[in-house]
Parts: sequence; C-alpha cells; structure tokens
Amino acid sequence: MKDKSDIGLVGLAVMGENLILNMESKGFTVTAYNRSYEKVEKFLTGRAEGKNIRGARDIEELVASLESPRKIMLMVKAGQPVDDFIEQLVPHLDKGDIIIDGGNTHYPDTNRRVRALAEKGILFVGSGVSGGEEGALKGPSIMPGGAKDAWPAVKDIFQSISAKVADDNGELTIPCCDWVGDEGAGHFVKMVHNGIEYGDMQLICEAYYLMKNLLGMDADEIHQVFAQWNETELDSYLVEITRDIFAYKDENGEPLVEKILDTAGQKGTGKWTGVTALDLGVPLTLIAESVFARCISAQKAQRVEAAKKINGPQIAFSGDKAAFIEDLRQALLASKIVSYAQGYELMKEAAKEFDWQLNYGGIALMWRGGCIIRSAFLGNIKAAFDTNPDLNNLLLDDYFCKTVTDAQTGWRNVVGQAIANGLAVPCLSAALTYFDGFRTERLPANLLQAQRDFFGAHTYERIDTPRGEFFHTNWTGRG
Ligand code: NAP
Repeated sequence: MKDKSDIGLVGLAVMGENLILNMESKGFTVTAYNRSYEKVEKFLTGRAEGKNIRGARDIEELVASLESPRKIMLMVKAGQPVDDFIEQLVPHLDKGDIIIDGGNTHYPDTNRRVRALAEKGILFVGSGVSGGEEGALKGPSIMPGGAKDAWPAVKDIFQSISAKVADDNGELTIPCCDWVGDEGAGHFVKMVHNGIEYGDMQLICEAYYLMKNLLGMDADEIHQVFAQWNETELDSYLVEITRDIFAYKDENGEPLVEKILDTAGQKGTGKWTGVTALDLGVPLTLIAESVFARCISAQKAQRVEAAKKINGPQIAFSGDKAAFIEDLRQALLASKIVSYAQGYELMKEAAKEFDWQLNYGGIALMWRGGCIIRSAFLGNIKAAFDTNPDLNNLLLDDYFCKTVTDAQTGWRNVVGQAIANGLAVPCLSAALTYFDGFRTERLPANLLQAQRDFFGAHTYERIDTPRGEFFHTNWTGRG
C-alpha cells in the first residue's frame, strides 16, 4: 500500500463503502473514516480486507494519511452532519485542500458551503452521485460542482469510477461525469435528475394502470409490453426494471407487484425540484404532479373511504387493444419529452439566476449511464444541445418537435379515454396540457390581467401598444 492515500472517504454506509471499493478497484488508495469506529473496523476486516484501503480512528489520523492536496469525500446523511464534519475537518486542513460532499444535499446548502470555505482557502465540491448502491460500486453517474480549482485534482478519480457510455466506435470510454458548474450547480443538477426520476416513474405507473384497469391485462401481458417497449425509443433502466418486476412471482406463483400496498414514500428531492420551480417561475408541471401523485397515494385511508362513497363512470374500453397499447407508448414517450423539456428549462432558469455556465449536452451525457434515469433517449437530448447549445426548450428541437407532434393523436386518445373512464393519469395529462399551453400563441391570461386590474389595480399591457407600457382601467366606472 502507498504511504499516503489518494483520497479519504467519510461515511461507511452503503454508498460510502461501495464508492471506496470502486475507487480501490481503479487503482486508488483510500482512507476510510466513520463517526463510529466499529464500522471502520468491520469494513477493514470484511469487504476491504487485503485491499489498498486503510482506516482512520479519528479526524487527525484521516487528514495525516492523505496525499496533498488532501481530498476528503463525505458520504454521510445530508444536512447538519455535513456541516459538523466540515467544522471538524477545517482546523486540520491546509489552503488548497478539498472537501467533497457526495450526499443528496439541497443545493442552497452547497452554495453556502462553497462560499464559506472559499474564505478559508478550502476548495469545496458538492457532487451529485446517482445509481444507488450498485451504481456506487460498479459505476455511478457523478455530477460535481463548486470550487472549480478542485476539478483537476479530483477529475481522474471521479471519471475513473463513474459509469461509461459508448463512443462512436462502441467502446465504453465516455465517463458519465464532468464538471457541472459553480457553487451548488452539481447538487442542483442532481436534484433535477431526481425530479425527472419521479416523473419517469409515475408515467410508467400510469401506463401500467391503464393496461390493467382499462384494457384488463394481467402481469404477464404487461411484462411482455414493457419488454417490447424496452426495444424502442423508451429503452431505459426504469422500463427494464418494470419489465422484470411484472415477471417476478411470489411464493404462491402470483405477481408480487399486485400484493404491494399502493402508498408511495418519498425522501424530498422531488419536492425540492417542484418548490424550486415555483420559486424560479418555471412551469415544471409534470414533476410537480408526480410528487402530488405520491402524496395522494399516501392518503390511503381517505381514498378507501371516498371509494365507497363517490362513484365514477363505469369503465368500458372499446377499440383495438393493440392500437391502444401503441398509443400508450406514444403518450409515454411524448410525456417523457415534456418532462425533460421542463427539467431543462428549470436548469436554464437556475443558470440565469445564479450565474452558472451549465453544459446542457454534457448533463445529458452524465445521465446517459450509471444513474436511475439512464436511457437511450438522453443521447437525443445530447444531440439536440450539440446542434444548438442555446436551445430554449427541447420541444423546439427538430427531432423532439417531430416526435411529440407525431405522437399527439395517440397521446390525446390515451388521456381522453382515461378521463372518460375516470382513471387518474396526472402526469400523462399534465404533460399534454403543458404541450397545448406551450404551443398556443394566445392564452386566456388577458382575462386574468383584467381581473387583477379590476380588483387590485395591478395594471395590464395591451396588444396594440409597445411592451412595457402599463394601463389601468376603472372597470366599474365608480370613483
Ligand atoms: P445514510 O444512511 O444517508 O447515512 C449514513 C452515514 O451518515 C453513516 O456513516 C452515519 O454514521 C452518518 N451519519 C448519520 N448521521 C450522522 C450525524 N448526525 N453525524 C455524523 N455522521 C452521521 O447513508 P447512505 O444511504 O450511504 O447515503 C449517504 C449519502 O448519499 C446521503 O446523503 C444519501 O442521501 C446519498 N445518496 C444515497 C443513495 C442511496 O441509494 N442510498 C443514492 C445517492 C445518494 P454512523 O455510522 O456513525 O451512524
């Protein structure tokens, strides 16, 4: 083992341990540290035995074991524990040393930490890491941002351990990791990634819901459909695992998925995405609906009561089942495009707000492999931003515009039939409503402005005078 480690990692839970093993397998020497030393001991005598991994009993030992500039990655619970470790580390570090937070931190915290540590000469990196525990071990998607001077020192380690996607020759050489931007940009992009994950998952759930409740399909048939869809533009990790979920039978030979209680949990990153969109004034309707879909799912007791009391229409499907399944595929694809269009718009608005230079094609590439939303489709997003780096909205890219426009007949049929049959499809319908709003030159907001002016003298602009001239009318004629 080398005298000094290339990097130290704090936090020996699933993610931390797996990242250390991944780093070691790529030739790096790592020092492992945890608040409670028993975990370090257990790791060193278990999974880390015989590897280029050393343990540290305390912060001093951790810091002393590292090559300069020191690189210390935190994989601990987001929030106060990150601040606590920073506070413990800083007195032992030199100017130019690097602290990396790889947890699911809310980006304003990273903005604050980057600035505060810059004043002390410490380079702070906030990095999104996606792919769950398996990704951490075999190759995650890594989204680092913060103090850019840290990038040359951590680039080799991060790009070595990240997932790789194929280059033009089909070789897995392109790392799903690149520098994202200043301050909390890395954690911001990871937050949007998680929001998109919420949306993608809910869209797939709605497709299943219609297959089951409108078309009366069983798990085996649904498994077949997802298997076929995974051979199309919908080729993705989430469609792939959904295919496998429908094939999984419990001890009685019955599909396990149908035995699972229909109440979804959440850890908050989808909510952060929705709240940030509201703060920045971005219509991120699909992701917001996907968060609310989890909220209504959690209201199980109320739903059970309401289901006894409130009747909807009798469900009756008439039409060609195979044609409807293709419409459903089109609806899913088009809605997914809308979701990414909205997510990218949020990143663009954040870049303006925080003065970040984001590489949008590069972000698509980082998500192309290793993470939960990895899909073939992200290659098209990369291509769209390669063609036009200033693209305002993905729906204006020729490929996506054509794909969504071609899909709209089927999409409208799906949403129409769902509504007519009383089957809730919040994300498929929110996406279609956004699409129709986005492509409409004149919306009814003229009336809204009149109402605002009527009761609150909020003024309005006119269509027959230059923008920026504001008018107020005494609508009642009363003084
Ligand atoms: P976790 O359960 O989120 O965190 C456990 C680690 O945090 C342990 O090392 C624990 O130390 C430490 N910790 C907890 N509270 C602490 C406190 N008050 N002070 C000091 N240390 C504290 O572990 P994880 O699931 O491996 O995730 C690590 C980070 O990666 C989190 O931010 C998580 O959100 C993020 N992440 C997780 C996944 C995933 O799939 N799990 C995916 C991407 C990102 P002790 O052992 O001493 O309790």
